[in-house]
Amino acid sequence: MFRPVCTRAARQLTSSTSRAAVQQQQRRHASTPAAFDWKDPLGASNLYTEDELAIAETAESYCQERMLPRVLDAYRDEHYDPKILEEMGELGLLGATIKGYGCAGVSSVASGLITRAVERVDSGYRSGMSVQSSLAMGGIEEFGTEELKERLLPKLASGKSIGCFGLTEPNHGSDPGSMETVAKPHPSKKGYYSLSGSKTWITNSPIADVLLVWAKLESTGKIRGFVVERELCPPGTLETPAIKNKNGLRASLTGMIQMDECPVPEGNMFPEVEGLRGPFSCLNSARYGIAWGTMGALEDAIARAREYALERKQFKGNPIAKYQLVQKKLADATTDAAYGILAAYQVGRLKDEGKAAPEMISMIKRQNCDRALINTRNLQEIFGGNAVSDEYHIGRHVANLFVTQTYEGQSDIHSLILGRAITGLQAFV
Ligand SMILES: Cc1cc2nc3c(=O)[nH]c(=O)nc-3n(C[C@H](O)[C@H](O)[C@H](O)COP(=O)(O)OP(=O)(O)OC[C@H]3O[C@@H](n4cnc5c(N)ncnc54)[C@H](O)[C@@H]3O)c2cc1C
Repeated sequence: MFRPVCTRAARQLTSSTSRAAVQQQQRRHASTPAAFDWKDPLGASNLYTEDELAIAETAESYCQERMLPRVLDAYRDEHYDPKILEEMGELGLLGATIKGYGCAGVSSVASGLITRAVERVDSGYRSGMSVQSSLAMGGIEEFGTEELKERLLPKLASGKSIGCFGLTEPNHGSDPGSMETVAKPHPSKKGYYSLSGSKTWITNSPIADVLLVWAKLESTGKIRGFVVERELCPPGTLETPAIKNKNGLRASLTGMIQMDECPVPEGNMFPEVEGLRGPFSCLNSARYGIAWGTMGALEDAIARAREYALERKQFKGNPIAKYQLVQKKLADATTDAAYGILAAYQVGRLKDEGKAAPEMISMIKRQNCDRALINTRNLQEIFGGNAVSDEYHIGRHVANLFVTQTYEGQSDIHSLILGRAITGLQAFV
């Protein structure tokens, strides 16, 4: 039933002739030693398949031509244009790794390349896409009933329906196991659960049609996943106010989910999964995407800092790029981006082979977010006073990357996950 949409999406993703693929072949056959390319220092593009290169090129073209021109106004006005999700849907970029249901069914590496292209423009745009793809669609695909998948995934894949993922609560962020949101049989509607509680800092929630909410089932005390459909919620049972005046991720929409005896059909509870395994499994995919995405933001910061340093002249007409301290900042950042991409690539390949341990994803999420934040903050100094102007884009990346280091497991929490895996001792409590 959904195959034509899927085929169309896959065709659009792979249709454009890949200049990069041709270059890759030329490089493979060259007899002379390869020249160093500061944009791809360790030659990661040699590892991608031709389809992956074509998908990356389609995503990069869309992001640079259609998203970049909008980002400054969006960031200034704290405005997220939901049409962006529809445009992404038309290109097959949403839920791209899902097979069937109108999704493109691409590799994890291809989806990472899409994420990197989007975050090269803005981490907020990438957040909106990740929540839709990995958290809402990924959760429904992994744990939902066939009825839910067939009914909801194609609309979410097209971007005509918007999804969000509600785990964090005002009093429970790093420790979601202590959540207070509760689900119990609805007192007056037979065949429905009633959800009550508050979620906060939820990307896309103010405009979401489909809200994947995690709540404790009162009868068992176990965490379960519920697909809340806004159109089924009577007035007063579901509110999703926006959180305004953020100083990061301003080009994405963030809000709360407030539920007061909100009715949810019994069939909308994920039937099998219990406890934190459900949300953590969805978060694994999203964290994998963040590891790629933050490298896109860092690469954009490197390109902009390099260009600025070559043009800006101080002391005897020298470009500041000539000075050693400036070069060291560029060398550090370029090295970290190259390593980060190779690490994300490796985990992507293992993921598709079913060999990616969650700790591997903690490792690349933590490392890539931390290195992206530290390096963009250092590169910011190359711009001097101009760094303060948003037209140089660097300050926006720095502010955004603080959030990427914080959400979906703050970096120190990922240190604890790794520490537990290394020592066998857990240090959370
Ligand atoms: C813009 C934005 C978008 C977001 N989108 C979503 C979304 O779509 N869905 C969603 O569910 N959530 C979302 N979040 C929430 C995000 O995941 C949480 O903010 C994050 O998990 C951290 O929780 P917290 O803010 O409550 O911080 P806290 O848990 O209070 O942590 C504060 C600090 O204490 C440290 N800390 C906590 N416990 C320990 C410990 N045991 N040992 C050592 N250090 C510790 C943390 O590392 C951190 O540095 C979003 C957040 C932001 C800012």
